[in-house]
Amino acid sequence: MYFIEDLPQIGTRYYGIVDQGTNIVEVRPTSLCPLNCAFCSVAAGPYEGRRWAEFVVKREALIESLSRVVKFKGGGVEVHIDGMGEPAVYPELVDLVQDISAIPGVKTISMQSRLFTLRERTLEELAEAGLSRVNLSLDAMNSEVARKLAGVDYYSAERARSLAEYALANTRMDVIVSPVWVPGLNDDEIPEIIKWASSAGLGKRWPPVLIQKYIPHKRGRSPRGVKPVGWGHFWRKLREWERQTGVKLDWRGENPFGIEERAPLPKPLAAGRRVKVRVIGRGIFRGEYLGVPVNTSGDPLLDRAITLLSERSLEPGVEVLARIIEDENNILLARAELVFL
Ligand code: SF4
Repeated sequence: MYFIEDLPQIGTRYYGIVDQGTNIVEVRPTSLCPLNCAFCSVAAGPYEGRRWAEFVVKREALIESLSRVVKFKGGGVEVHIDGMGEPAVYPELVDLVQDISAIPGVKTISMQSRLFTLRERTLEELAEAGLSRVNLSLDAMNSEVARKLAGVDYYSAERARSLAEYALANTRMDVIVSPVWVPGLNDDEIPEIIKWASSAGLGKRWPPVLIQKYIPHKRGRSPRGVKPVGWGHFWRKLREWERQTGVKLDWRGENPFGIEERAPLPKPLAAGRRVKVRVIGRGIFRGEYLGVPVNTSGDPLLDRAITLLSERSLEPGVEVLARIIEDENNILLARAELVFL
């Protein structure tokens, strides 16, 4: 487990800040997750053997960098708390939300969560701290199906729904639900989730239901026997569920979340470039390491963390020459080519 403090907060998927050139800035406080979902795109959870490290960010370091990013983006920013894990298990979640809401230019704070680990009082504190919306990850109404999808027997979909309803009735925060449709595993559950969202009053300010398409990922978990559907099939299915429930599900061509294009953060390191990198320690997946360029500027907008791929085991503190092979959205993936001993 790594507690990230004096390292760049931009550049890796593991933790920190991800910018995709809009007014929505993603914040990733932890990669930890208590569930083991069968379809998890980031292969999180206690039973996953391909992971060999987890990350928790020190709140102060995250906030310092985030303040600079929000200023760069201008006003009207939504900060979305998410990551390669379950953000609700972050130990300083309420303080994190409080600190984010104090950053000038932040308009909305949202969080992707399964909620079931939280208490009612924590939801009240989160709302008081400034959390505007929870995007509830809930993939089944039926307890058995929900536990099977979550991959653990202690997950409770009832508890998650009860907390969502509590938040709606007792706080100013909104809750929407974002189930993943996994064809063959929860087809009959999705219309029931939509009906619940409608009757429980989800979506006070935003669309109540955002159905996600199951997409297998190279590093994710893929349930046996599940075949992903194409986009045409997906949208047809949504229209069928719209007719069945009377709830609007297809928001293409509209912009209910107020997403605006904004200048992306500068890209100081681009694909193809070779850079001398100091190894900090393991990355999340076996064979991956976290590194930082030997020469940094001290400017949180310009310094980057790097995910290193190496077939050879790399000790913390070792320096390597690495070639950057991916740089999309400033997420830097590099291959170690030469190790300096
Ligand atoms: S899908 Fe979300 S809740 Fe499920 S294991 Fe992955 S990170 Fe955890």
